[in-house]
Amino acid sequence: MNRPLLAANWKLNKTLDETRTFINELIPFTKNGGDIDIVLAPPFTSLYVACLAAKYTNIMLAAQDVFYEDRGAYTGEISPAMIVDAGCSHVIIGHSERRQYFYDTDDVINKKIKASKRHNLTIIFCIGESLSEREQGKALSVLKRQLEGGLKEVTAENIVIAYEPVWAIGTGKTATPSQAQEVHKYIREWLTSFYGAEAKGIRIIYGGSVTPDNINSLMDCKDVDGALVGGASLRADSFAKIVNFKRRKS
Ligand code: PEP
Repeated sequence: MNRPLLAANWKLNKTLDETRTFINELIPFTKNGGDIDIVLAPPFTSLYVACLAAKYTNIMLAAQDVFYEDRGAYTGEISPAMIVDAGCSHVIIGHSERRQYFYDTDDVINKKIKASKRHNLTIIFCIGESLSEREQGKALSVLKRQLEGGLKEVTAENIVIAYEPVWAIGTGKTATPSQAQEVHKYIREWLTSFYGAEAKGIRIIYGGSVTPDNINSLMDCKDVDGALVGGASLRADSFAKIVNFKRRKS
């Protein structure tokens, strides 16, 4: 099994004070976490205070998005070098909310992934089908298109795939462990056909209404290497339970 990765996506939530408080509350629960990766993705404004609060801990930081140029006349954008400077080792790219509300296409996502790799960031690359795509039996073809588009001319190192069915995000409807396993297995096979043996080390994490109550059964799935958590990551006690999931597979 790959080293588990548990990531918190705070989205448009938390002030500087709330960020510091959360991290101080979470730290005592991460002490046994030597064999897992714990990543927090605060909003851009909180990254640097999160970096200071998480110093000397095993908590790592991600930006929730990034732009693909290093500098220039791009008002409102943030570069990979800037998020590294603010303390990030990871970046979330291609989240369904970015695709839906900010029109991030597969091509834009591919540019963001390439730019982030140039700065040695670990990329949490999100893919997922909508409810209507699933109902029409198109889920796997949508995922294939997103994988092919996002990973075009991208090498395997520092890539994590987050499978996030759009119908399960923020809805309380989690994919069942068998639904998650079926798709993760498909993604693993696609990665193997694309990268060969190197695909083995690419972590595939699940996202979509993950909570302390369902994390153990999701982590029992053979091809589930972790979770990307939205709503249930906003409280330190809830995210602490998720990072302390009970592993029943070896
Ligand atoms: C997410 O936005 O990445 C997510 C998985 O959200 P939630 O856990 O709230 O469904």
